Amino acid sequence: MKVDVSTRESRREFYLSKSWRQLRLKAMSRDHFECVWCRDEGKVTTDNLEVDHIKELEYYPEFALDIDNLRTLCKECHNKRHHRFQFRKSSKLQNKNFRSDEWWG
Ligand SMILES: [Zn+2]
Repeated sequence: MKVDVSTRESRREFYLSKSWRQLRLKAMSRDHFECVWCRDEGKVTTDNLEVDHIKELEYYPEFALDIDNLRTLCKECHNKRHHRFQFRKSSKLQNKNFRSDEWWG
């Protein structure tokens, strides 16, 4: 399946697509519905889980539906990864890694 992620809108559509929804569930189930970063720290987090693209969707659309490119993160870790909290506070990070459409992941 060819995934169009060239625009914000097309990425949003991707995150709403049936193939993504099915795959993200598979990824979560593979990760035992736990945040894998929290697990690395010895914590078990099973709330507010999201599925992250290791190779980012926008730059690697060919891995968009590759389960090996997915990992389960809790909202907090996912935010850390995309620097969402620092975004407002630090102008340094403004152009780096912040994409609000990743909320759809
Ligand atoms: Zn976590």
